[in-house]
Amino acid sequence: MNDLSDLKVPGPTITQLTAPFWDAAEAGRLHLQHCEACQRAVFYPRRICPHCWSDRLVWREASGRGHLKSFSIVHRPGHPGWAPAAPYVVGLVELAEGPTMLSLVLDEAPSVGMALRLRPTRVGDRRLPAFEAAPTTDSPTGDTP
Ligand SMILES: [Zn+2]
Repeated sequence: MNDLSDLKVPGPTITQLTAPFWDAAEAGRLHLQHCEACQRAVFYPRRICPHCWSDRLVWREASGRGHLKSFSIVHRPGHPGWAPAAPYVVGLVELAEGPTMLSLVLDEAPSVGMALRLRPTRVGDRRLPAFEAAPTTDSPTGDTP
């Protein structure tokens, strides 16, 4: 894969609601909303909890750990700006905190169930929360999928 920081791709649409997520991403961190009423993590950013409808959502740093639920290898990107990076992997990452997020997966041989860890990656002029294979010693339980 080419250097992703050279890509000329459109950035995210940042709103007042999503700004904390993107600010954390720029700092190399993954932040998720956490519901103070039901204690569950929430992603994508929302005004009310999708589990219990509370509006008591606060931002917390996530572990950056998860596993690959599904993936696609993109050969023909939907936006021409991504063409220099193809083929690349886009995956559904089930985060250790519970939510699933769509993310770039920096692995040339992905497999469903593989353990992942956060790898902040500069794409164009933004830093995004991408993921890479986690060393098996990184697994908090010592289990391998
Ligand atoms: Zn809740």
